[in-house]
Amino acid sequence: NLNAKLVSRVLLGDMGTGKSSLVIRFVKGQFLEFQESTIGAAFFSQTVSVNSATVKFEIWDTAGQERYHSLAPMYYRGAAAAIIVYDITSSVFEQPSDSFAKAKKWVQELQKQGNPNMVMALAGNKCDLEDKRNVTAEEARAYADENGLFFLETSAKTAVNVNDTFYEIAKKLPRA
Ligand code: GDP
Ligand code: MG
Repeated sequence: NLNAKLVSRVLLGDMGTGKSSLVIRFVKGQFLEFQESTIGAAFFSQTVSVNSATVKFEIWDTAGQERYHSLAPMYYRGAAAAIIVYDITSSVFEQPSDSFAKAKKWVQELQKQGNPNMVMALAGNKCDLEDKRNVTAEEARAYADENGLFFLETSAKTAVNVNDTFYEIAKKLPRA
């Protein structure tokens, strides 16, 4: 569709939080128990209808490792929207890391360096693992509200709220 509105977005967050799994769930409707970790960044595109308009999403799926951090601005600078992902099971006290704290750092970085009109969503992924939860939805929602982010808990595994995260952002984008 030549009239499709082009929306570029980026996924940021710690390694292992499920960024690639969320994109693959959204684009291909699939889930892999052993998703290969991303090297550098991966590119996906998907066209969807939102409120009778056609939106073509260009999605940059970044690698979460610290050694790739310096590449991140290349992907978020041109992005109209960002999805910042953490893992609801990750804990301050356990390895690999506290991915919620890392998510807050990404939000700060985007607030300072990103496009000021960028629509930001916070996704608490792996919400299927309720028995291993370490970050409450209340805590994350309070943080999201304070910072003007859109918040949802998602599961790339069960598909809960995955499409909604992408669609809601599309609705919040300024009309071209
Ligand atoms: P990334 O490094 O952020 O891209 O994370 P990946 O997408 O590679 O996922 C890391 C691991 O978490 C993989 O083993 C996935 O199968 C798993 N995973 C991703 N999303 C979910 C989810 O929603 N629920 C569960 N239970 N596992 C997930
Ligand atoms: Mg990945």
